[in-house]
Amino acid sequence: MTTLDFKREQRTSTFLDPRQGYAPETVTTEFRADPLTGATSRICHFARDRVPQPELAGLVETSKGFCPFCPGVIEQATPKYPPEFLSGGVLTCGTARLFPNLFPYDDISAVVAISDQHHVPMAALTDSAVPNGLKVARAFLEAMEKKRPLGVDPAFSMVMWNYMPPSGSSLVHPHMQVLHTRNPGNALRRELAAEIEYRASHGRAYLSDLVAHEAGAGERWIGELGGIQWLVPFSPTGMVGDCIAVFPGRATFTELDDGAIGQFAHGLQRVLRSFSDYGVWSFNLGFFPATAPEDVDHHWLYARIVPRVFVNPATSAADASYLQFLIEERVAMVYPEVTAERLRASWASV
Ligand SMILES: [Zn+2]
Repeated sequence: MTTLDFKREQRTSTFLDPRQGYAPETVTTEFRADPLTGATSRICHFARDRVPQPELAGLVETSKGFCPFCPGVIEQATPKYPPEFLSGGVLTCGTARLFPNLFPYDDISAVVAISDQHHVPMAALTDSAVPNGLKVARAFLEAMEKKRPLGVDPAFSMVMWNYMPPSGSSLVHPHMQVLHTRNPGNALRRELAAEIEYRASHGRAYLSDLVAHEAGAGERWIGELGGIQWLVPFSPTGMVGDCIAVFPGRATFTELDDGAIGQFAHGLQRVLRSFSDYGVWSFNLGFFPATAPEDVDHHWLYARIVPRVFVNPATSAADASYLQFLIEERVAMVYPEVTAERLRASWASV
């Protein structure tokens, strides 16, 4: 039996509403705590039917003026690793090309341009661009793990992706970020510490219990594909929801074989199509690994996909504010159960 604690609490705010002749209006905010870390988020200001659309064609066209990742430019405009660090200076897989980040975030910080197309619409991210990007990232991270053996000097092999400007991407051309780092960031560090405690008191990996519970309960469950389990977190991350893909029995990104990468890409296409139907055209995606396969006793590798939006396209208003940046509080405008229902409907229709 699982002992996961899904804490939620509703609070109401009452005011005299000028939109209704100053009649009393009551608005509800729901607070939720993550069952693992206790981190809270709040659900409020419920979203309209679809996310407001920007003038995307103009943005794509303007950004073609100079793009360092387009064919014919990428070969001259992007850096290479010194040969003693990486033979050949770059790595390729199909149309995906990995090279050093000109603006590194760490000592080992690479970029993968995943397609030779300048703009790949979210709903049409091809079957090959995502797998090729992940495979070339894996080849690079495997080489880094050999340089810095995991057991000797623990480091995290991380793949992250900002897709289109609302997510923080400065370029339209689709590209992923690859880090091999001793510092995986505060979020993963807190999760790993909580997972070690969970393992000590329950004897199982937290995500093993979460997947079993959510698959059984169903209200936040999306589906399973090739052994990868997809679900919507109880405590949301993004303004218009999020979802995670859990890889049972694996703790690190470099453990994924070609089959697992292909199955993940198929699942990703399903959820991206659904978010796209809702009007979303940007997202963050990240893989959250432990440092070594042996850590699977407490940590299962998972990927999180967070749709990103301009809350007001006219002003390019960001969907992150003082709440996320200053007080570290996530806000959603959609109940996770509603997000899951939408994703489930799209999942089943493929
Ligand atoms: Zn381009």
